[in-house]
Amino acid sequence: KVLLEVKGLTAAIADGGAEILKGVHAIMGKNGSGKSTLSKVLVGHPDYEVTGGSAHYKGENLFEMEPEERSHAGLFLSFQSPVEIPGVSNTDFLRMACNARRAARGLPEMDPLEFYAFLTPKLESLKMDISYLQRNVNEGFSGGEKKRNEILQLAVLEADMAILDEIDSGLDIDALRDVANAVKGLQGPQNAVLMITHYQRLLDYIEPDFVHIMEAGKIVRTGDKTLANELEVGGYAALKN
Ligand code: ADP
Ligand code: MG
Ligand code: MG
Repeated sequence: KVLLEVKGLTAAIADGGAEILKGVHAIMGKNGSGKSTLSKVLVGHPDYEVTGGSAHYKGENLFEMEPEERSHAGLFLSFQSPVEIPGVSNTDFLRMACNARRAARGLPEMDPLEFYAFLTPKLESLKMDISYLQRNVNEGFSGGEKKRNEILQLAVLEADMAILDEIDSGLDIDALRDVANAVKGLQGPQNAVLMITHYQRLLDYIEPDFVHIMEAGKIVRTGDKTLANELEVGGYAALKN
C-alpha cells in the first residue's frame, strides 16, 4: 500500500515526483536542487504555493489537509534548522503534541505522569539528559542537541511518515550514530522514512530501500542503495551517464 504518492508536483519554487511506499527512501542532490522545498511543500509550509500536480497521503489529497491535520495524521518533518520556542518547556511542548496526535488516533490523553514514563526510555535511547525536559524548546541547544530533539519529537509523535531533512548535518560521529540508531529503532513495517542527506555515512546506519536523486527541482533518478555509493565515489558528474 502506498503511504505517500507525489505526482508531477509543481510548487512556486520547485517540482518533483515520487511514490513513497513503506520503507526507507533517501533523497540526495546538490545544494539548491529543491530537497528542502519538496519536504516543506509536503508538510504545508506557508512559504510555498502548490501550483500543479498532486500528492496523496494515506489515499487522501494531502493539499486539502491543513498542516496541522497532516501532522495529526502522522506526517512529520524534522527541520534543517529547528526553531527555538522561548517560554515553552520541552516536556509541555512534547506532551501537547503527543496528545494532539493521540486524540487524532482516538487514543486517550496522557497525563504528565504517564507521559513521563512514556518519554523516559525515548530520552535514554537518544542519550539525552533528563534535564532537557525542563529547558525551553531548542533554546540554547547545540546543533547536535537540536537534531536529537527533532528525533525525540518524531519518537513521541509515533509518525507514520517521517521526513528527515539533513538530520546528519553538523553531528559529530557519536551523535550521528545515536541519532541514526534512534531513527532505525523507530522503523517498523507500517511506516516510512524519507531522509534527505548529502552523505553515505547516514545510509551506512539506516540502509535505504530506494535512493532518489534530485536535480533542479526534479527527481531525475531512482535506484537502490548502490546509487548512493556511486555518488560517494564519483560525485554527481558520475551520474550523468
Ligand atoms: P536544497 O534543500 O536541495 O539545498 P532548497 O529546497 O532549499 O534546496 O532550495 C531550492 C531552490 O529554491 C534554491 O535555489 C533556493 O534558493 C530556492 N528557494 C527555496 N526556498 C525559497 C524561498 N522561500 N524563496 C525564494 N527562493 C527559495
Ligand atoms: Mg542544502
Ligand atoms: Mg535543504
